[in-house]
Amino acid sequence: MDFSLDSRSEDFRQRIRAFVEGELFPLEQDPSAYDEHENIDLEVLRQVRQKARAEGLWCLQMPIELGGQGLPVVGMAACYEEMNRSIFGPVVFNSCAPDDGNMIVLGKIGTEAQKQRWLKPIMDGEVRSSFAMTEPAPGAGSDPGMMRTTATRDGDRWVIHGHKHYITGAGVASHFILIARTSDDSRKGLTAFMFHRDDPGWEIVRRIPIMGPEEHGGHCELRFNVSAVKSTLLP
Ligand SMILES: Cc1cc2nc3c(=O)[nH]c(=O)nc-3n(C[C@H](O)[C@H](O)[C@H](O)COP(=O)(O)OP(=O)(O)OC[C@H]3O[C@@H](n4cnc5c(N)ncnc54)[C@H](O)[C@@H]3O)c2cc1C
Repeated sequence: MDFSLDSRSEDFRQRIRAFVEGELFPLEQDPSAYDEHENIDLEVLRQVRQKARAEGLWCLQMPIELGGQGLPVVGMAACYEEMNRSIFGPVVFNSCAPDDGNMIVLGKIGTEAQKQRWLKPIMDGEVRSSFAMTEPAPGAGSDPGMMRTTATRDGDRWVIHGHKHYITGAGVASHFILIARTSDDSRKGLTAFMFHRDDPGWEIVRRIPIMGPEEHGGHCELRFNVSAVKSTLLP
């Protein structure tokens, strides 16, 4: 594998480095820039995101045709490293988990309609997202094949029963990717659903405390066991 950076990636790396040093290091020194969970305050984030976006330092990981900068994986690795010199970095450039992985998945396998509805608002910085896979023991963790959450069809809806935990960002997310079992097929038995926080049939049981700074929306325990969730399947 060739690990050398192409000139465009190197240019972005240097610009990210300069932005982190010029804009984010000073912010880290300002106690009023923090929220109650030791993360960047949401209003401060909104303002500094605007600056990053105005400089073209936004969604570097996403394809150009979707509105990103289309950096290759090796180029992104170098840019992630620069972003992460600041605890505020990744979220400022719209490259933080779980939005980052969710955007990449939606960009790669979403239909055009799904990209418009579910991906674009995340890329535009209008909403945040979550990825809901992990379950309390003896459910899915390192091995998603142990998935206990089930999804069964009921007319044009899906009924989801399950219990998830450590779901990053769930307290503020609007767009969720939910992994559930749709059959006992050991290779194709899991399905990814899209759902919106306003869909019925789920609840946040609690926000699980962690040591140190927390992502916006925390790491939550969720329950899906009440009624039908009208969801959209990822292909
Ligand atoms: C801060 C934080 C944020 C998270 N955010 C999310 C999120 O947004 N969405 C989400 O879905 N999940 C999230 N997770 C959950 C995370 O993905 C899981 O903790 C992880 O996948 C491990 O699963 P587990 O905790 O069930 O541990 P387990 O799978 O029970 O593993 C426990 C231990 O056993 C080992 N082990 C497991 N299986 C095997 C095996 N077959 N062979 C040998 N060793 C094995 C593991 O290496 C580990 O040491 C988050 C977790 C944390 C701590």
